[in-house]
Amino acid sequence: MSIQQQVSLRPFNTFGLHVEAENYAAFTNVEELQSLLRHAKEKKWPLFILGGGSNVLLTQDIPGLTLHNQIKGITAIKEDDQYVWVKSGAGEVWHDLVLWTLNRNWGGLENLSLIPGYVGAAPMQNIGAYGVEIKDTFDHLEAVEIATGAVRTFSLEACRFGYRESVFKHELKGQYIITHVVFRLEKAPTTFHTSYGAIQSTLADMEIKELSIQAISNAVIQIRQSKLPDPKKLGNAGSFFKNPVIADSLFRPLQDNYPDIPHYPLPDEEVKIPAAWLIEQSGWKGKRLGATGTHVKQPLVLVNYGGAKGADIWHLAQQIQAAVNDTFGIQLEPEVNVW
Ligand code: FAD
Ligand code: NAP
Repeated sequence: MSIQQQVSLRPFNTFGLHVEAENYAAFTNVEELQSLLRHAKEKKWPLFILGGGSNVLLTQDIPGLTLHNQIKGITAIKEDDQYVWVKSGAGEVWHDLVLWTLNRNWGGLENLSLIPGYVGAAPMQNIGAYGVEIKDTFDHLEAVEIATGAVRTFSLEACRFGYRESVFKHELKGQYIITHVVFRLEKAPTTFHTSYGAIQSTLADMEIKELSIQAISNAVIQIRQSKLPDPKKLGNAGSFFKNPVIADSLFRPLQDNYPDIPHYPLPDEEVKIPAAWLIEQSGWKGKRLGATGTHVKQPLVLVNYGGAKGADIWHLAQQIQAAVNDTFGIQLEPEVNVW
């Protein structure tokens, strides 16, 4: 068990923010994690769990123990005529898992190509893109309870996935560390999700004659690379806010005032509105505030132009929230985890 002191987390968060972890340890298996948890309990250290650092905003030095998940390994654990169950260590890079499944022509994760971060964080917010969420292929996960060190299995139902939500962000917040995730994938893919956004037009531009999961993945990668800033070049954590979901009854008067407002009807008489549009209409697209700002192509992405502190980005986020609230009466909720 190796614990280092005063470690800069700059290499470990995609905003590229420098804060120090008072104590830092990486773990590569469940036993190491359990032993670190016992040690932290003796020391009464608070815990911070880090994966790829692509969904966190670090606003201050992190007290206690920062635990960095490095549990690796991807294996097929069972199969039937139609499906194969793939188990991944939580410390695998998400896109490496996607590529591993694509190489075997096992379908289900292709629309989620190129999402940054590790496999273990994916269930935290039920990652989603281009009409697919991990709940669609999720089978179960294994997690260690922080208080006891016990290993527990969570079924699909137990995770209570919602739009960028799970039980781990609410009732069980801060109580479990995810160590392994199992997905159920199609052995001979027949289900393709191409109706969303620019996938179909991109496939046409690529002159794809026969639809395949590899073609969909390539299209998604192409769209993402053209629209989103690469965190290695420009610090960011993807969408900073969730797309607000409001009741139909609140949406209708808004639509009277803004007939062009983009919106997507949801079940239960609710409507999802793209937060990017609200931010743009509130005058914040491409705007800079010191070393921070919103991305010129995608205002939902807040960026670190170099040298920003976490508190600067949080200040920018609050300014945007206030502007959107003043203009539309809608409170944007951060998707990024603020520490
Ligand atoms: P981290 O940032 O390290 O952690 C996120 C949260 O999960 C923290 O609260 C952390 O404590 C907790 N956590 C991490 N690992 C564990 C674990 N093993 N057990 C318990 N808790 C844990 N997200 C989408 O949903 N869809 C997208 O299309 C998308 N696109 C993005 C594009 C860009 C350019 C960027 C930078 C981000 C994007 N994101 C997207 C957000 C982000 O990539 C995902 O949320 C990702 O799953 C975060 O993984 P991570 O390992 O980096 O998590
Ligand atoms: P987009 O395609 O320009 O669409 C804007 C928003 O409208 C999206 O956020 C999406 O909500 C919603 N939307 C679009 N088509 C929809 C449909 N057919 N049905 C329901 N909702 C629809 O979005 P984008 O910014 O380029 O992102 C493309 C995809 O990548 C989206 O799924 C987005 O969530 C994902 N993405 C996520 C992050 C992140 O950090 N979370 C970062 C970049 C991209 P949804 O978000 O619910 O899909």
